[in-house]
Amino acid sequence: MKKCLITLFFVTTLVGCQNQEQPEEQTEIPDGASNQNNSNNEKNNEVPDLNQESNNVEQEKQEFKTHSIEGDEEVYLSVEEVTENLGGDYEYNSTDKSLTLEIEGREFYFVYEVPVMEVDGVYIPSDEITLKEIDGDPYVSKEFIEQGLETEYTYEEEEELLSFTWEDEVIDAWASTGQTEVDISSLSVSEMIEYLSFLQEPIENASVSTVESHLPGAPRIYRNGYHEGIDWYGYSTGTEITTDTPIRAMADGVVVRVDADFDDYPSHEIRNEDLDVAGEVGYTPEYILDRLRGKQVWVQYEDGVMSRFAHLDSIPEELELGQKVDEETVIGYVGNSGTSGAVDDDGSGLHLHQDLLIYGELFWEPYSLEEAHDILSQLFR
Ligand SMILES: [Zn+2]
Repeated sequence: MKKCLITLFFVTTLVGCQNQEQPEEQTEIPDGASNQNNSNNEKNNEVPDLNQESNNVEQEKQEFKTHSIEGDEEVYLSVEEVTENLGGDYEYNSTDKSLTLEIEGREFYFVYEVPVMEVDGVYIPSDEITLKEIDGDPYVSKEFIEQGLETEYTYEEEEELLSFTWEDEVIDAWASTGQTEVDISSLSVSEMIEYLSFLQEPIENASVSTVESHLPGAPRIYRNGYHEGIDWYGYSTGTEITTDTPIRAMADGVVVRVDADFDDYPSHEIRNEDLDVAGEVGYTPEYILDRLRGKQVWVQYEDGVMSRFAHLDSIPEELELGQKVDEETVIGYVGNSGTSGAVDDDGSGLHLHQDLLIYGELFWEPYSLEEAHDILSQLFR
């Protein structure tokens, strides 16, 4: 919901930007038109005089002063400076520490210190781009230029200057991204079951729990929030679960996050500090929720479907970021990382927590909890 509002805001504020015309163009293309036709249309539209002025501006050499954070080797770019110079826009939520960044019709989403880049709802493996905060403002790693904007840069370390040329060709090549995005709120329960039917159970011989607190939407009072996904415990899935229980990738996909170096909360005091923040703001901020998920692996599948596997005990050493996986690939082993059981190191509360997202939205958000549970029970019998 939040994302839709933000998108609308951007469309109305990106005045004078070449890509602003694209949504209108798309509506004129008849149903069934191929991507190829689509890009031809856009090429033809480069000719009108209207666009020439902004083209010249975009072709100019861009130069940015980079910013450093003490104790951190990476250097960062101010999101405000980047959007001002390139003609984009952004919204930074300082409670969630999440950033939505729009440049030339492409929407990026980042969460503080989460090593994943979301582009138009699809997650891209990149552990080199991180969102940081300096004096309350958002900053992204300089690699954002190369991996997010797909533009090569040069960096002069002595002068702390990063420069690149912002070219129309790059923007034109983006035109087809994000256009296959599905409005999941338009799918009926049976259509959603069909949409997700390519996924296998993450744990062999396990069936999805029927315990309400293990399912989406259940309250989570300790962190002032609600449950976003599915919990797979031994006692409620019909299979034994230990730290030797392998978790499988569920379908053909690409690994987009591997928390190989994850450090658990060192003490209850520090974990409680995060929970206190959730108590103060009245919900679980996104960056805190990410920590509470513990050691994670994320896998991106086709059609915008993405799975987050959380609370892992361990991850196979050979599993790599960007690796292609299939339903048989072991992506990790069940654990309790991120939970209070992990702080106590007593092995309690072992379970897999798993979230399913479609183009960045939790799959169950358009449905009643009953419908969401129905979808899951049909998918993972
Ligand atoms: Zn859970």
